[in-house]
Amino acid sequence: MHNPHPGLPELEYVKPASLEEASAFLVAHKGEARPFLGGTDTFVRMRDGFWKEKYLVDIKGLDGTNVITFDPAKGLTIGSAIPMNKVSAHPDVKKNYSLLAAACDTVASYQLRNRATIVGNICNASPAGDTIGACMAYGGVLTVFGAGGVRQEPLATFFKGPGKNALQTGDIVTAITFPIPPKPHSGRYMKLGRNKMSDLSIVGVTVLAYKDAAAKSGYTFKVVLASVAPVPFMAEAAQQILAEEPVTEESIGKAAEAAMQAVKPIDDVRSSARYRSYMVRNLTRQALSEVWQQVKS
Ligand SMILES: Cc1cc2nc3c(=O)[nH]c(=O)nc-3n(C[C@H](O)[C@H](O)[C@H](O)COP(=O)(O)OP(=O)(O)OC[C@H]3O[C@@H](n4cnc5c(N)ncnc54)[C@H](O)[C@@H]3O)c2cc1C
Repeated sequence: MHNPHPGLPELEYVKPASLEEASAFLVAHKGEARPFLGGTDTFVRMRDGFWKEKYLVDIKGLDGTNVITFDPAKGLTIGSAIPMNKVSAHPDVKKNYSLLAAACDTVASYQLRNRATIVGNICNASPAGDTIGACMAYGGVLTVFGAGGVRQEPLATFFKGPGKNALQTGDIVTAITFPIPPKPHSGRYMKLGRNKMSDLSIVGVTVLAYKDAAAKSGYTFKVVLASVAPVPFMAEAAQQILAEEPVTEESIGKAAEAAMQAVKPIDDVRSSARYRSYMVRNLTRQALSEVWQQVKS
């Protein structure tokens, strides 16, 4: 009988002493080696036979990957190896980036979040990644150590398709940084799943809002949609409506409708495309209404 979970194949665990060594190893073993952090995507994909690398290169502990820092003038830096539970429990994250903490807490179970990282969630480039919306709404930028030196990769242009991102062979993400968020702001992540634990989202709607004198309406609303297109994306038409028109129940409804028009969902084991579309509209309207009640007061 066919066994869908045949067990991990034989592989070699590689623990480099530096980022240079790790990157050089990945380049020298192109197609045969993969970097990993918590391994919660990696080991499952390898067990199920989708990924067949011979070498797994452990990034945890390499320079800068294990620190989380907050500078009131510059913002937040989260080392790539920091597990989600540490992110969401960090006092500076809870105080200044509460939407990110809330998004982390929707991922699977507490046990999984002791291993899983935000950077792994992003690099996996699943359209359903639960922390991606908050990272995009807060303007997250990845720091990448690669064969050509260190560079910054904004999340806005990072995702190229399901499982595809802007990284090249030898690239290692060492951290994600966020600018100081607008004060005050209000955020909401609405995850629709088949159950409350350990399931990927059917639809994920992230909304972040704040007062903004530069916007005609006086407010900026960021809306990021997940699980409803090949990549997570900002619903720009919805954002524009709420930047230009007075924020009312009517314009919120119009923005939610525009969000629904922007999606390109698929039918899969978790949901039909049609259900996804309607739930984008409903959850976007709900999330916008909730944050609006908070930012307008
Ligand atoms: C039971 C279960 C439930 C889950 N539930 C959820 C859920 O509810 N929501 C959700 O969003 N996800 C869920 N996931 C998926 C997974 O846990 C997350 O995507 C997690 O954040 C991945 O982080 P990681 O550190 O474990 O990544 P890893 O598995 O270590 O890596 C993931 C990918 O990123 C690449 N990568 C890792 N580190 C780097 C680096 N430094 N530089 C470049 N590339 C790198 C790897 O090569 C791999 O392609 C679940 C997984 C399991 C097993």
